[in-house]
Order: sequence, then C-alpha cells, then structure tokens
Amino acid sequence: MATTRRELLTKALAAAGAMAVPSAASRANEEANDGHPHDHDHDHQTVPSDPALRVKALETLLLAKGLVDQAALDSLVNLYETKIGPRNGARVVARAWVDDDYRARLLKDGTAAIKELGYGGVEADRVVVVANSPRVHNLVVCTLCSCYPWPVLGLPPVWYKSAAYRSRVVIDPRSVLQEFGVEVSPEVEVRVWDSTAEIRYLVLPERPAETRHLSEEELAHLVTRDSMIGTGRIAFRPEGVRE
Ligand code: FE
Repeated sequence: MATTRRELLTKALAAAGAMAVPSAASRANEEANDGHPHDHDHDHQTVPSDPALRVKALETLLLAKGLVDQAALDSLVNLYETKIGPRNGARVVARAWVDDDYRARLLKDGTAAIKELGYGGVEADRVVVVANSPRVHNLVVCTLCSCYPWPVLGLPPVWYKSAAYRSRVVIDPRSVLQEFGVEVSPEVEVRVWDSTAEIRYLVLPERPAETRHLSEEELAHLVTRDSMIGTGRIAFRPEGVRE
C-alpha cells in the first residue's frame, strides 16, 4: 500500500513528538500549578493542511526554477492584503447612494462605473451590480469554485469558498441567510446570483434610513463586505438611539 506524503509527515512528526511529550509527572506538575504551562524546551508542531503543503511545494519549485520572482510574489500578496479590499466596494456603494446618476450608470454597466472610481482589472473583467430593494434581496455565490470581484471586495472569505455555502445557498438561501443573522421576510424575493469567471456580482445594499446627514465618506464606513455579498445587513443606529 502506498504511503502518502501526508501520512509520512504525520508519522515522522508523531515519532519526533513522542520523544518530547511531557511525562505524566510534569503534566501533574502543570496541573498543580493552576495549568501554568511547562517549560518550553521543545517545539509544538502540527502538520499543515494538504492545500498549504501543496502551495508551499509549488511556490518552492517555481522559485527554484526561476519562473516567479520572490519580490513580485510578496508585493502581490501585500497588494491584496493591504491595498485592495472591501473598502473599494464600500466607496462604490456610497457613491451610488449619494449620486443617482452614478447609481444608474452602476446598475447599467457595473464594470465601467466601478472603473470611474479607479477600480478594475484582474478578477473583475465584467462586474454586474444588483441592487437590493424593499422587495428584493440579492445573494452572491460561485457554485463552481470561488469567483469573486477582487478589485472591489478583496480576497474571498473562507466560507465563500466552502462546499457547504456553495451548495446550500442555491437550495435553501433563506436558511443560509438566517445562519448569517439575516432575516428576510417571506414577501421579499431572494435572488441568488451564480458568479463565473466571466461575470462576477456585487450587491448594492439599501441605504439605511436616517443617514441623510452623513457624508459620502461616512456612508462608506457603514458598508460591510458581507452586505456587498448579500450575507449581511448594514447596521446603523442614529445618534442618541441606544439598543
Ligand atoms: Fe468560481
């Protein structure tokens, strides 16, 4: 029977770990000290997940073969971690809330209107913006994999890529929404949009009531990532109102 790399690593680490497992006496000593940890003269180690191992192996190989540049790789990761994210989408939403003409352009041609604010490119060749209303609640998924409009939302959250979300959201969207804490009245239609590599969706949430006095920038701060996927609502309490 063939031994997989994971089994091999697990066995190797278990063997190494066995030599470093604290004795019953030291564990008892730890308990006696109100759970204060024992001396760390050894490393605790766990085997990384299979995808993490695979990514690391690929990265090492590509770097060794000179096919990718470490600095370029670092700057790309940095770009998506620090510069591109849901704040971009929030600015698009806030602009649509304060400017009816922009809103109309956004709903007609999302890609072009998003580009007006300087966002676009990879993973957003075509973005369709769908507006929530008192009668319609929109929800975005990628049933095939994890297509997502990166330039306006950043990298997709783990749950968006999970098999459970991808399969359940098309079968029973209301239950999934409930689990996210979003109650949708029976009279409100739930529309599920299945993203592909060609078309990605962005939800335009409804502007909360009593936000007339807020500036575009302040409005943008209210907009959450999940509200632009459809799995969240925008919370806003006017000043002076307490729960
Ligand atoms: Fe996908």
